[in-house]
Amino acid sequence: MSGPEHSCGVVGISADFDVASAMHTALMIIQHRGQESAGLSTFNGQTIESVKGNGLVTVALPKEEVKGLLGHVGIGHVRYATAGNKSIAYAQPITVTTNFGPVAVAHDGEITNFAELKEKCMRGGSTFLTESDGELIIKLVAKYMNQCNDPVKAIRAVMGELDGSYALVVMVGGRLFGVRDPYGFKPLSIGKVDGGYMVVSETAAIDSLRGDFVRDVEPGEICEITRDMYKTYPNPVQHPRATCMFEWVYFARPDSVIDGVGVYEVRRNIGRVLARECPADVDFVMPVPDSGRAHAIGYACEAGIPYEEGFMKNRFADRTFIMPTQKEREFAVSMKMNPIKKTVEGKRIMIVDDSIVRGTTLKKLVAMLRKAGAREVHVRIGCPPVIAPCYYGVDMKTRDEFIANHYSVEEICGIIGADSLGYISYDGLIEAIGIREGDLCLACINGKYPTIIPGEVHRSQFQSTLNHDFQ
Ligand code: 5GP
Ligand code: MG
Repeated sequence: MSGPEHSCGVVGISADFDVASAMHTALMIIQHRGQESAGLSTFNGQTIESVKGNGLVTVALPKEEVKGLLGHVGIGHVRYATAGNKSIAYAQPITVTTNFGPVAVAHDGEITNFAELKEKCMRGGSTFLTESDGELIIKLVAKYMNQCNDPVKAIRAVMGELDGSYALVVMVGGRLFGVRDPYGFKPLSIGKVDGGYMVVSETAAIDSLRGDFVRDVEPGEICEITRDMYKTYPNPVQHPRATCMFEWVYFARPDSVIDGVGVYEVRRNIGRVLARECPADVDFVMPVPDSGRAHAIGYACEAGIPYEEGFMKNRFADRTFIMPTQKEREFAVSMKMNPIKKTVEGKRIMIVDDSIVRGTTLKKLVAMLRKAGAREVHVRIGCPPVIAPCYYGVDMKTRDEFIANHYSVEEICGIIGADSLGYISYDGLIEAIGIREGDLCLACINGKYPTIIPGEVHRSQFQSTLNHDFQ
């Protein structure tokens, strides 16, 4: 397995103006995809220059430094990392100099045969600074470029070696490529902006640059982006798809559209399905802000129950999900969320969130609502129980941490202290997304991995029998 990267965000722009500032804007829009570090690289006609740093885009990429980055072609990255992996060496894009010129790569996803490929590279004489997928990918691109001096051939050869998930932006000198893995796990879209073209993880960034969405990069496609066109090198072979369902459920911005399906719309649909599948007699529906908001709106509309905001969220609090210990996570939830007492007092409440992983968030929130005087607290969840680790980039790593692997739904209801608990059904989720089951990656909820995962073969058979309990 690869190192400490997870779902991230990438952007690449080629235009008739200096692109650094536009890329900075795009990264701000996809900031939710990674808050650990950010970076921008541009090709100035001769070399690739970069600005990288830890933290949020505004901190990591100071405006004055970004202004100094010249060049009409560039790529950028925001990085999500788990607790403890904060080294600046992991910030992307990663750039190297080769005898055919400079190369830069930024990666969203996770390479499942990372260890094997790295080992192979090292046997061939490569050395590595980090455990990051991005570094492996750039070394492979450089290796194949040395052999054929043709970026498309080289990238295609690298794709032949990589297993797992990747949305890539690659700069070979001043040539820019957007690449999506053959399963299309991760989103990547093409946009037309005034004076150029772009590729980016989420369509919301195209909107923010007042551009027009052109189309998604197809799974397995290499797309070359120039200032006045994009050129496709499609996957030469037919291949099954497996887009990550969690992008719609949790990860992406609600104003983005992935493979033609709007994220907000899916979340609303999830709420509607939940209202049909798990009704309850309550005074109002409220979200866990912000992740459960669209799901809660869908629920309230479908059930004809009033919608309220019963929690105030502190936007500036730290992220609880990635904190290393349970104690820290629980404490951080109270820093982050405060009930609006007058709203919840004496009421029968339905609270909706996108997912339960460890159960930390909801256990704390239900207790807070009760303390604030709620009479009943019913919980509804927009994703079936998470039971299997994600090896494709979502921060859900060990079976042991998933509460649904230890307890039944009834027991979890007791643990989080709710009056009732309902998860959307497996089929209900697929209906809400509106994409064929066979075209989605649902591994975290059904244990069936679209690709071979080292060490998971027996597990996945075992897990798929287990799943019938949840369906
Ligand atoms: P739990 O508290 O049950 O461990 O996690 C569920 C909560 O974390 C939900 O509110 C959900 O929005 C959020 N969440 C789920 N998956 C992820 C993830 O991969 N990263 C982060 N930062 N939050 C997540
Ligand atoms: Mg949340």
